[in-house]
Amino acid sequence: MVHCESLVRIYRTGTTARGGVEVQALQGLDLTVREGELTALVGASGSGKSTLLGILAGLDTPSAGTATVDGTDLGALKRRERTAYRRRTVGTIQQQTAANLLPYLTARENVQLPMGYAGVPRRRRAARATELLDLMGIAQAGDRTPAALSGGEQQRVAIAVALANEPRLLLADEPTGELDTATSQEIFTALRTANSELGTTVLIVTHDALVADQVRRTVRIRDGRTSTEVLRGPAAADGDGDGDGAPVEYTVLDRVGRLQLPRDFTESLGLAHRVRLVLEHDHITVWPDRDRPPGAGPAADGG
Ligand code: ADP
Repeated sequence: MVHCESLVRIYRTGTTARGGVEVQALQGLDLTVREGELTALVGASGSGKSTLLGILAGLDTPSAGTATVDGTDLGALKRRERTAYRRRTVGTIQQQTAANLLPYLTARENVQLPMGYAGVPRRRRAARATELLDLMGIAQAGDRTPAALSGGEQQRVAIAVALANEPRLLLADEPTGELDTATSQEIFTALRTANSELGTTVLIVTHDALVADQVRRTVRIRDGRTSTEVLRGPAAADGDGDGDGAPVEYTVLDRVGRLQLPRDFTESLGLAHRVRLVLEHDHITVWPDRDRPPGAGPAADGG
């Protein structure tokens, strides 16, 4: 459903006589998401998560590299194609619950609005709005305006709005960011329902450990690249032989063979600068550099 390869996004800011400053928000990011997956994207503030979501939402274009969603190359869209892509292929939910809804329309009217833009007949619009509000567990709130809804209800209406035109991919940027724990759980459940009941592929950017711990796949972004990922649940144990379903940590191997080791792994063994590799018949081991004196951590040589 989503395939990003060596994705780069450079922002140019503060134009001066000498050109201005460049920020590389994405620095060769690779990401593949299969159809029907529900994936959490995590990473420190400034690591490039929102930039990636903006590109996948068709709001922004990559400076280099490729991003395709459901076979659409997002770097090559013409204006009209971009509008169609945003209307039909992706649905988006923002963190600020209020920003997702028009305040003077009822919940039901908010859900019907994007269908109107897409030319869905009126009767079909009404039926689908009812279905979606019901699926999100807020059938009773259809005739209320956002001001008369709780934050959690507003966000569930926002998910229904995002699903109105049956997108293949749902993008949620910190959807639980403004909500308490119990309400976050409701929103997460609603996103999971969209994934399981409608088959929508879901990508959630989150700081929320509660959300990240409950999804099968968590991808970590660091410095504008995907670095590591964790797979949980029964399927995570496939192939590793132990069958216990414990979380399994992965790292991304890019096209030229580069990989990034998780910082807690490298720090716990004092790995720095150079590591020793040994190719075994079915795996590779990574050892501290044996030419370094024992106990010489990253700080011992002055960096
Ligand atoms: P995250 O969502 O992980 O917090 P962002 O994608 O928002 O990260 O930002 C990645 C980097 O790009 C940061 O250094 C940020 O300051 C910079 N950045 C984001 N948007 C812009 C912009 N419109 N103009 C200039 N720099 C930007």
